Amino acid sequence: MEEIKQFEINRKQVSGLGKVNFDNLPFGRIISDHMFTAEYRDGKWQDFKIEPYGPMQVFPAMISLHYAQAIFEGLKAYKNNAAEVVLFRPDENAARFARSAQRLCMPVFPEDVFVEAVAQLVGLDRDWVPGSAQGSLYIRPHMFGIDEYIGVQPSQNYRFIIFTSPSGAYFSRPTRMKIEDTYARACQGGLGAAKAGANYAAALYPTKLAVEQGFDQVIWTDPNDHKHIEEAGTMNIFVRLNDELVTPPLNDTILDGITRKSVITLAHDLGIKVTERKVSVEEILEGARNCDLKEAFGAGTAAVIQDIAEIGYKDQVFKLPTTPSGEAFSSQIRKSLELIRSGEAADTHNWIRKVRELDLKEV
Ligand SMILES: *Cc1c(COP(=O)(O)O)cnc(C)c1O
Repeated sequence: MEEIKQFEINRKQVSGLGKVNFDNLPFGRIISDHMFTAEYRDGKWQDFKIEPYGPMQVFPAMISLHYAQAIFEGLKAYKNNAAEVVLFRPDENAARFARSAQRLCMPVFPEDVFVEAVAQLVGLDRDWVPGSAQGSLYIRPHMFGIDEYIGVQPSQNYRFIIFTSPSGAYFSRPTRMKIEDTYARACQGGLGAAKAGANYAAALYPTKLAVEQGFDQVIWTDPNDHKHIEEAGTMNIFVRLNDELVTPPLNDTILDGITRKSVITLAHDLGIKVTERKVSVEEILEGARNCDLKEAFGAGTAAVIQDIAEIGYKDQVFKLPTTPSGEAFSSQIRKSLELIRSGEAADTHNWIRKVRELDLKEV
């Protein structure tokens, strides 16, 4: 593979870093100094550069505003114990971004350029990466059609942008989740397996109803008869039934999460029995009644491992037992992930990419 050279940089004159309180970071509200941008024009990707994060001009007729031809990714940079900046499995995000692009009829952004762009952007803004006790740097690559044309067809031109956000915890406590029995975020043959903004648009209204009923998010069920669980809000879902950890198998209404994949691998490493199989709502309710349901948690980049404290279904609410922290599968797996990211445990699966101390120059 040919080495990718340093991208052109237009540095921000005055950094916003001084205004940030790293000891009290919200999730996703603060944006770092720089963004990476590229454009797809005349059938090829070009204009790769890093520039100050800021507003951009678009036309009201921009196609993605109307027909949602837009996809995104989410990954994180962490500081390890040696204060080096590391990325967690960025190649997986690049590959999934390419799959999402194909599904939405968009041009594939080269996977090696994706990873290198993330590395150079984070290398430039490395002072924005929170310390390990403060949080992490959430990285948001995204792409959208920019044609000024409202006929329904794939855009000819696209913009690809990466910006980053120093972030604290996504949820500050274990969550209350409502099993959805009416709405769906995705349907068979739809966009559910792609990381497309449109899936989130479909999720907003049912999530709002759940929040009005006192829940944090919904547990999505299959779109046909709502009899099997699929995901937990914006995360994949795991449930522990006695001593077996179970997660629904991937299909076209479930997003192939990188955290999910990592949890399965780590569960194997820890000697936890983990199975990918369909889980019925009835099995969850029965497990909650007879105490076979020991734990439930969501898995995703933003929240990482998110414990579920309560599950609601129609007019019933079930409290999950509180397993002593060290014994819970969720805390064992969370700990394993942390040790790999911090560099205390060997990175046996080759998940960590160190961000070189880039001495980036304006070119
Ligand atoms: C992004 C996302 C996830 C989690 O994927 P990760 O790769 O682990 O961050 C799960 N479900 C949905 C619907 C998502 O959009």
